[in-house]
Amino acid sequence: MSNLNTKDIVNKYDFKFAKSLGQNFLTDDTVLEDIVAGAAVCKDDYVIEIGPGVGTLTVELLGKAKRVTSIELDDRLIPILTEELKDYETFNLIHKDALKVNYTELIGDEKSVKVVANLPYYVTTPIIANLLNGEYNFKSLTIMIQKEVAERIDAEPSTKDYGAFSLLVQYYCDTAIIRRVSPSCFIPSPKVDSIVIRLDKLEKPRISVKDEKLFFNVIRQSFNMRRKTLWNGMKNIGLEKEKLEKAFNTAGIDPKRRGETLTIEEFGKLSDAIYDQKNG
Ligand code: SAM
Repeated sequence: MSNLNTKDIVNKYDFKFAKSLGQNFLTDDTVLEDIVAGAAVCKDDYVIEIGPGVGTLTVELLGKAKRVTSIELDDRLIPILTEELKDYETFNLIHKDALKVNYTELIGDEKSVKVVANLPYYVTTPIIANLLNGEYNFKSLTIMIQKEVAERIDAEPSTKDYGAFSLLVQYYCDTAIIRRVSPSCFIPSPKVDSIVIRLDKLEKPRISVKDEKLFFNVIRQSFNMRRKTLWNGMKNIGLEKEKLEKAFNTAGIDPKRRGETLTIEEFGKLSDAIYDQKNG
């Protein structure tokens, strides 16, 4: 079975790109190869692809994986994918919004599950957050994203890119940048540079906290008030003044600091101390 050529298929079906669906299709073979190699897809892997477009990356994945399920939202792409990939017995297509898929059901008993995708950029962060928060047993997510989002993922404390999203990804994953991709590798060309990044799910989260919901709430509150002190940020955390003071004391964190200066370990300490004050 041969490679699919994005431009040929787009022309064959007279497909019109929908900007609102983040449709920038890959036309560069080396990028396709690098994504698949970066994901280290092998015959034991069940691959879930989000947004197959006309199936160019899908075919590369089908050549390496045990099976591939692709999730596509655009009605118009369903007949195209069904026709062009009809000879692949290990291919399964789901016509749905990737944010509404039941991944637990999709994964079933599969042990080696990898997400590989050239993500639609308008929903990159909700899709990543949804996949990580669900605590599914993905081995990795190898994804093409905007350079700016990659910078937020890899950001360190006290930098402008550091925020709740950096901490969410760093809590669950190690990260590896595979390559940068220029706008000319797509049709139509996006306005931004892109990065292929692999997020390797850790066996267990990077730090252990007493209450994950509270931990992420502490983080959210800290960054809601980015320019203000932690003390101000924690006003809505549900603790009276005295207990909050105790929590900061136990955690060894100065409440006058700004949230963006805290490491993930410090957020863990603060949220555990708040937890103890709430439940003590
Ligand atoms: N994989 C193809 C490629 O690399 O050429 C297309 C990638 S394109 C950047 C993103 C794809 O995601 C499009 O096919 C778009 O229709 C689809 N898409 C957009 N929003 C989606 C959603 N919420 N759920 C599933 N697919 C979506």
